[in-house]
Amino acid sequence: MTTGSQHIIEGQKALAEVLFNSIGDGAITTDEYGRITRINPIAQNILGYSEKEALGMWFPKLLAAYDDDGLAVPLIERPVTRAFVTGKIISERVHYKNKDGKLLPISMTISPIMVKNQPVGCIEIFRDITNEVEIDKMKSDFISLASHQLRTPLSAIKTYTHMLLDGFMGPLTKPQIKSLKTIVSASNRMNETISTLLNITRIESGSIVVAKKPVLIDQLLDEVINEHHLAAIDKDIKINFSHPSTKIRLISDGVVLKEIFANLLSNALKYTPNGGQVKISIKSTQAKLIISVQDSGMGIPLESQPNVFTKFFRADNVVKKETSGTGLGLYLVNGLVKELGGEVWFETKENKGSIFFVSLPLLPHIIKTGTVKK
Ligand code: ADP
Repeated sequence: MTTGSQHIIEGQKALAEVLFNSIGDGAITTDEYGRITRINPIAQNILGYSEKEALGMWFPKLLAAYDDDGLAVPLIERPVTRAFVTGKIISERVHYKNKDGKLLPISMTISPIMVKNQPVGCIEIFRDITNEVEIDKMKSDFISLASHQLRTPLSAIKTYTHMLLDGFMGPLTKPQIKSLKTIVSASNRMNETISTLLNITRIESGSIVVAKKPVLIDQLLDEVINEHHLAAIDKDIKINFSHPSTKIRLISDGVVLKEIFANLLSNALKYTPNGGQVKISIKSTQAKLIISVQDSGMGIPLESQPNVFTKFFRADNVVKKETSGTGLGLYLVNGLVKELGGEVWFETKENKGSIFFVSLPLLPHIIKTGTVKK
């Protein structure tokens, strides 16, 4: 015979079961030992395991997780372990191998189930994002193709403009020279935007290749400063470069480093009013090099600071004054610095100036080559 309270408990259990099975994404719960206690029909469908096969199995054993490079995620780094150990909700993208051995891109959120501040299990909600990944790839391929196609006519425009400027087609009047210089600087800007777009698609698709070689950092920064010499003169801005007297050689990718510092320096010049100051410094510790690019410019408002490395973000104070800009530069810088195994951060005060720091490892280290095995 069942009592009234047993009836209520049974009723609640049945309701929980119905609710769980009605979740519109894959859902799995585990107990405190990581054993699967529930798996809803959508999860069974995505993964190819029946309820009978999954229940009682150790979650990490049934479902191996892989990163974007196709490497198995170690147990200690798995979201399920971290959620359990930290008691925090974790949202991430991983790859799960389904029963047929196929790797599926998955977007998941895992939450610890807390009872009296103790985790007694986890609940994971996830979905198969194969279609989104495919669409993302098509978008990247399109940008990559369009950028390549734009480069060819652009280089013809630049070549012929330079030939005109150099007098190969006869003498020019002052207004003609001025117009041609405007064409050169507009084509340079377009070239920079194209290379930013190409680099971003490379980072996002994981196809960027970092070529490790010895780089003399002060020489490289000198080159970047020279390339921005005219822009600095135009705004009457002095660029001060201070570095240790001994040459610092690091094993890194010179092309990527140039792209990083060209972006930081061009921002410093762009967002500093005429007559301002820009200072580039190098400091080294035993393990790393810290390069800073400081300006006496507009600074970044407090409320915008968390978004500075976000794609397409431009702060309100600059949008009002400076129309040229895509909001892609720092997003790219952040991605490139990570590819080199470094870090980027900043300090800033509105109307006083900003200082961007890049730290780079000095000791030989493993650099991601970005080869993707999907
Ligand atoms: P943009 O093409 O707009 O320069 P970035 O991605 O390079 O894009 O920078 C993002 C935003 O960060 C800028 O729009 C600006 O609001 C802010 N920012 C970046 N560098 C500076 C700087 N040196 N001084 C002031 N604001 C800056």
